Amino acid sequence: MVVIVHSLAVSVEQLCARSQDAPSIDDLRPKFCAICGASCRDADGVLRIVGHGMYSRQVRGLSESTWVVIWVRRFICLACGHTLSRLPDWLHPWRWYAATAIIEALYRHCMLRQSAREIGVRFSRPEDESRWRSLDRWRVQLLVSPTLWGWLGPRLAITHPAPSREEAGSYVFRLLAEGLDRIRSGVDLLRELPSAVRATLKNLIHNRKKAGLITQFPPGHSSTSLPAQTGHALPTEKDSGRDPP
Ligand SMILES: [Zn+2]
Repeated sequence: MVVIVHSLAVSVEQLCARSQDAPSIDDLRPKFCAICGASCRDADGVLRIVGHGMYSRQVRGLSESTWVVIWVRRFICLACGHTLSRLPDWLHPWRWYAATAIIEALYRHCMLRQSAREIGVRFSRPEDESRWRSLDRWRVQLLVSPTLWGWLGPRLAITHPAPSREEAGSYVFRLLAEGLDRIRSGVDLLRELPSAVRATLKNLIHNRKKAGLITQFPPGHSSTSLPAQTGHALPTEKDSGRDPP
């Protein structure tokens, strides 16, 4: 399965309730298949990339609530048989926490020097927990793990996990700078953070191992291509029995 991130400014409420004003299947339908490059319609105008239902996935870190369940639309390419999921750009594929929440937590921890407990409370974690393992994990995985902006690492000259909290802070800063084009002095980074994070995920195609920009597709138009990876146990699939990472 491949995930294609979209920037249709969908609110979490729209996706929770599958409401009327959520993006339509036609809005979300990819123009071409990210695996084989087939156009969404054949020469006769018949659809080749068709709706393939929705799946629910849980998201943490949004608003004050603990978990929210959103609906993700999925398509299947009739030419090659692969499925393509469409995720909003505030959500990181293969992570329980919203992308914006992950970066906000890291920003508060590594740049504002807030404690894990203090940040955890903001994200509805129990007040008596001083450790937050996800936060520790994000800190060492940021810009290195293929599922946590690892694809941007080489571009930002980052090749190894941040060895310290300070260094992780500089990683966060570089990621935000990437999303904002440049950081002007005096800008309130915490306020700009959601749009910066969304910009880093815009137009992204993701398959858990690799990510690339949709503008580099269809395959054959550039040297960047995604190997077809299927059959993984993906936490984004409906899987309510599993604990969050
Ligand atoms: Zn295809």
